Amino acid sequence: MRSDPAEYELVAPESLAAVVSILAEKPGEWLPIAGGTDVMVQYAAGKLPARRLVSLWNLPELRRIDVSQTEVSVGAGCTYTDLREHQTVQREFPLLATAARWTGGVANQNRGTLGGNIVNASPAADSLPALLVYEADLILISFRGERRIKYVDFHTGYKQTLLSADELIRAICLPRRFAEYIAYSRKVGARNAQAISKVCIAGLGRIGGGVIEDIHIAAGSVAPTPVRLRETERFLQGRPIDIALVHQARRIAAAEILPIDDIRSTSTYRSAVLGNLVAEFLQTLSAHERGKDVLARWNGLSADEAAREILDCCGSAAWAQEITARRPLKNEPSLLAASDEIWNSLPMQDWLEAFSKHPRIGERKAPPAASSKSAEWSAQEQKHAELAENSVQTALAKGNAEYESKFGRVFIVCATGKTAAEILAILQLRMQKEEQTELREAAEEQRKITNLRLEKWLGQ
Ligand SMILES: Cc1cc2nc3c(=O)[nH]c(=O)nc-3n(C[C@H](O)[C@H](O)[C@H](O)COP(=O)(O)OP(=O)(O)OC[C@H]3O[C@@H](n4cnc5c(N)ncnc54)[C@H](O)[C@@H]3O)c2cc1C
Repeated sequence: MRSDPAEYELVAPESLAAVVSILAEKPGEWLPIAGGTDVMVQYAAGKLPARRLVSLWNLPELRRIDVSQTEVSVGAGCTYTDLREHQTVQREFPLLATAARWTGGVANQNRGTLGGNIVNASPAADSLPALLVYEADLILISFRGERRIKYVDFHTGYKQTLLSADELIRAICLPRRFAEYIAYSRKVGARNAQAISKVCIAGLGRIGGGVIEDIHIAAGSVAPTPVRLRETERFLQGRPIDIALVHQARRIAAAEILPIDDIRSTSTYRSAVLGNLVAEFLQTLSAHERGKDVLARWNGLSADEAAREILDCCGSAAWAQEITARRPLKNEPSLLAASDEIWNSLPMQDWLEAFSKHPRIGERKAPPAASSKSAEWSAQEQKHAELAENSVQTALAKGNAEYESKFGRVFIVCATGKTAAEILAILQLRMQKEEQTELREAAEEQRKITNLRLEKWLGQ
């Protein structure tokens, strides 16, 4: 059924105060619309419940991110792009920055807001498990004033929330006490972006004295609302990670959720995948512990030795020197944060130097500039791509040549976990970009590759 635009009224007040006063006049009559990425889907399907829409888009009061000593307050109208690009969010709330990267495509990330994701209340929403593990609070505002509630209490059932008809979310408050925690997240879907999750998970953990000192795990698409896995957390608290523990945690996690069968997946599949993801999170935590020893040794090397050892993770000599100069780096999160910051600030020639160390996608032969370690990592990263059918391999070879002739450099994509067909589709899309946009895309892909290599290096 198509909706008739003439049946709708849209107002766009210039202040938050004006919006709340409209909502207070006739509670329930007006529907707030922020980026519209959920509302417009409902509209197009002829299922939009309200005829009167009040716009929150770009209201300055909702678009700010305030950083105080104890918390980061994210305006509900901040977009995924705002979140991805904010330095403190990237550094201290990487699960939220990652969820923002997963949410739809770039256009969606420029429009979709965190407040919209929360109020839309889909159990599959990508940012909500992250808000649960960071123990976010919400500030709700209405004409009557403000109230602060725990986000964990917000969803009361499938698509049910604590929000009153005259209320808005003004801000999402994230306590700044998790910067030292190890963060883990995974989205299992047909793809990471542009696909609804079959299961998504966010985890935060801290290990001390060989045992799990604190652990938070939350998941989406496994119950009517996003959920914290409290039983699994209680079981894990205070224990050392070993194979038996991982095995039991997998079982407890799978038993404490209430997944459903739907068009995207079955409940059995969801339970099994969630158990596997919890196991992978614990293995990651354990690897981070091992990584601390690698970092402690590296911190003690001479500057030349340290830069030489870490160079292959990125390929740029300037990056290697700068990250070496940041020592001592005490754990993986601080290493990755330093790496991101340095990489994003490097000039183009250093990016190009890193790119030049990669073989062409689909080709085994490493370029002369690559070290044997770099060549070995490239082979691992491209292992799925090598299984391509002949026709895809031929198309990739042709695409590589066209890319190099247009941009004058090798095509860079974070190939880990991607099939050759997926890589080909990305290559064809990126061929259409103009030079500067494409350079930034390539740099972002290199940033991901570097992070994965740093993780491998720490786990060695
Ligand atoms: C192509 C596409 C891909 C997508 N991919 C993903 C994905 O991968 N992962 C994912 O999680 N989501 C995805 N989404 C869903 C959507 O983009 C997100 O849920 C987004 O965060 C919604 O934000 P919005 O500002 O567009 O919300 P809107 O559509 O404007 O509003 C959604 C709901 O929230 C209410 N609302 C908005 N802001 C407030 C506020 N401050 N206070 C009170 N109520 C408010 C509105 O009244 C409405 O009920 C996708 C959507 C599209 C169209």
